Amino acid sequence: MINRTFTCIVCPNGCKLNVTASEDNAFIVTGNKCKKGIEFAENEILNPKRMLTTTVKTNFDLMPYLPVRTDNEIPKEKVFEVMSILRKTVIEKNIKVGDIIIENISNTGVNVIATMNTEEKRYG
Ligand code: SF4
Repeated sequence: MINRTFTCIVCPNGCKLNVTASEDNAFIVTGNKCKKGIEFAENEILNPKRMLTTTVKTNFDLMPYLPVRTDNEIPKEKVFEVMSILRKTVIEKNIKVGDIIIENISNTGVNVIATMNTEEKRYG
């Protein structure tokens, strides 16, 4: 039997969910204002996932970091592995928003994409 409380992050309401799950994965969710909270709570216990937003280094003096994000959610247990790869990544050529920086990162089936052009903060 699992009993957990957490905040639903599906919408800005941020409902405080209380979840009781039995060993046969029967869930009782309270505190949710809509059905999405039930799905979120079940996924949080069975298969938690997160979108990841961060930056990677570049070799451009005027824009030393490029904002990036995953183009879909990745398993929560892969977040540290993915961050470790991104910490070692250096952008060496101009990138446009939406370009894939790393394809299928950590075999998640998810790509890391740029959320800004490298030239946007380059002056002169
Ligand atoms: S339970 Fe529904 S209303 Fe509440 S935060 Fe989640 S999605 Fe929003």
